Amino acid sequence: MADYIVLRNVTKKFNTKTLGDIVAVDNFNINVHEGECFSFLGPSGCGKSTTLRMIAGFEDLTEGEIELCGKLVSSSKKKLYVPPEDRGLGMVFQAFAVWPHMNVYENVAFPLRIKKMNKTDIDKKVMEALKHTSLTGLEKTFPGDLSGGQQQRIALARAIVTNPKVMLLDEPLSNLDPKLRESMRFEIKALQKKFNFTIIFVTHDQSEAMAISDRMMVCDMGKIMQIDTPENLYNKPVNRFVHNFLGESTFINVVVKDNKVYPKGNTNQAIKIAIPSDASNEMVVATRPNEIEISKNDTDGYKTHIESRTFLTDRIEYLVSVGNQLVKVQTPHRIKFDKNEECYIKFVSPMWYPADDEKEAMERAKRQVI
Ligand code: ATP
Repeated sequence: MADYIVLRNVTKKFNTKTLGDIVAVDNFNINVHEGECFSFLGPSGCGKSTTLRMIAGFEDLTEGEIELCGKLVSSSKKKLYVPPEDRGLGMVFQAFAVWPHMNVYENVAFPLRIKKMNKTDIDKKVMEALKHTSLTGLEKTFPGDLSGGQQQRIALARAIVTNPKVMLLDEPLSNLDPKLRESMRFEIKALQKKFNFTIIFVTHDQSEAMAISDRMMVCDMGKIMQIDTPENLYNKPVNRFVHNFLGESTFINVVVKDNKVYPKGNTNQAIKIAIPSDASNEMVVATRPNEIEISKNDTDGYKTHIESRTFLTDRIEYLVSVGNQLVKVQTPHRIKFDKNEECYIKFVSPMWYPADDEKEAMERAKRQVI
């Protein structure tokens, strides 16, 4: 499979007045394959938008180079910057809302008019793009008279009208209500199948990214944490950050002593789990709340009691104490415990990570202040 979007050692630094140099994007290496839907995912300030803006050509690179469809479009060494309009990209950016003073037809025709295409070709292409986005018949309507979903379809039609090979979608669904978001996701996937675009999708919403992506990049504080399929990111996170970012997590601070694992600050009862050979004295054990087995009589488990119980639509969520820490356990509705009831818990497939790093917490706080 050909690599359609390639980032090589891409770094972007910003010089800020108050905090000096910020490395917004630190040595990113990414290869997105032809026809792939690839998402950038991470908390605010992790560098998603800056990376997308560099691919689009709105931002230069401090270091590195970017190739699109086999053509070099940005290179810091060669001082090469192909302008955005010559990169052959379709874009739906949150900030690029539809133009309210133009009707639907003119909104979609706009990129073709810039290219000075003749009227007949414009008409053919616009009508085709409107057909694929279910907007036929609304040509003369102004965006203000349409729903949020329809307005977003105008933006999509405008992006596909130039027949791009690569689509950049930056939070394109964030203004829509949850039901509409879901159906627009399917529409985007259907369009991708039809035209075989390569998509980069930027979102804050992990379930949206999981549903739409072939692969995803999870980044944090300007660094790539992991690039993988949604399933692998969830099941085999490379570090605590990725574990916490995707899906629900429960973490327990533990100490390893005499080949036994105890909750930190309480050595009354050991947690019976296998200790990895490289474990140090203080570690964090991570698990998913729905992967903790809870029982009334399996005395092989860690003996504890129910601190609290919350009935949710699709599950019950219990908080149980492990030493001085509270651990979240989620079960189907049929597994019932009362508050204060005694129980035993077992960790099905726990993962181990190094103990908390205070320096990292400070760096995170600094970036989010900006
Ligand atoms: P969000 O999800 O909030 O949009 P993001 O992951 O897209 O966040 P970026 O917008 O790429 O993050 O920002 C990455 C870092 O670079 C942040 O610390 C941000 O404050 C900083 N940054 C981005 N643009 C600039 C700029 N023009 N000048 C100075 N710093 C900037």
